[in-house]
Amino acid sequence: MLSILDIVSFVMLFIMGCLFMLKSIREKDDVKKHMYFQSAMLIVIYAAIEYPEVRKFAMETENVTVLKPKMNFKQVLEKYGYPVVSKEQSQYISEYRTTNSDKLKDIRWNGNKWGRGKISKKWRYLVNADFKISNKCCDIMKKNPVKKFEKKTGKHPILGTMCEESALRKSQWMKSGCNGFESTRPISKPMSFWTNQDVLEYIQTYGIEIPSVYGEIVEEKGKLKTTKCDRTGCVFCMYGLQSDKTPNRFQRMKETHPRLYEYCLKPKEDGGLGIKDVFDYMGTDY
Ligand code: SF4
Repeated sequence: MLSILDIVSFVMLFIMGCLFMLKSIREKDDVKKHMYFQSAMLIVIYAAIEYPEVRKFAMETENVTVLKPKMNFKQVLEKYGYPVVSKEQSQYISEYRTTNSDKLKDIRWNGNKWGRGKISKKWRYLVNADFKISNKCCDIMKKNPVKKFEKKTGKHPILGTMCEESALRKSQWMKSGCNGFESTRPISKPMSFWTNQDVLEYIQTYGIEIPSVYGEIVEEKGKLKTTKCDRTGCVFCMYGLQSDKTPNRFQRMKETHPRLYEYCLKPKEDGGLGIKDVFDYMGTDY
């Protein structure tokens, strides 16, 4: 998954109340709140896919506006499929399996004329999985509620994304800078140039409260780190799981949140998310 902290907002450009803050209930969100709480709206997307401590922390914050997705995570899995490997690969696998277009199917298998847009050889076996795979989760759980809110209120988001988190975020920032006022969806990403170390230092310097699931901030070999989770995000997400060090995020959850872990693995027909079948098929340790 992403590095230590996901969505933070920090903004120099709060424009007459026409921007809102998009909150993803993370540690760095508190940095954002600390800086701008006085002047901007703070938005919480309540999707019940965060650690309970993080959700509680966010919901107890004053003056937040809560947005809820239309479906819950389990419904998304049932209707569209599991988010695995990466957003891109999940999309390609889903399209390969469902499209009626021979052309698209060929691109998803063999790539376009530049060799891009295809399912990586490593993940081709997933097209035969007996569970659904899809990239729709982010749209339904996060993007759609926010877009609806933007449409309804005419406000635009300030995101706390950072270049350090992905090559895509970096290349987008190189193209558009922090503020895309002229784009079809005006957006501000003023923390783009922050690093995780900057965020931790800020939290430490200003004594900002963070959810207990992160533990304390300590220094180790000249670098700041949290003693418990380094980042949280969506606890059930399998994007990037293949790159996790051992113990991976689910193995850590088994120790820290055994009931949540059980819920993840339990078969869907018994009320769980059925993720065990996905792990077994993919040979993922859990
Ligand atoms: S990060 Fe993963 S779990 Fe969270 S909304 Fe996106 S796909 Fe779903």
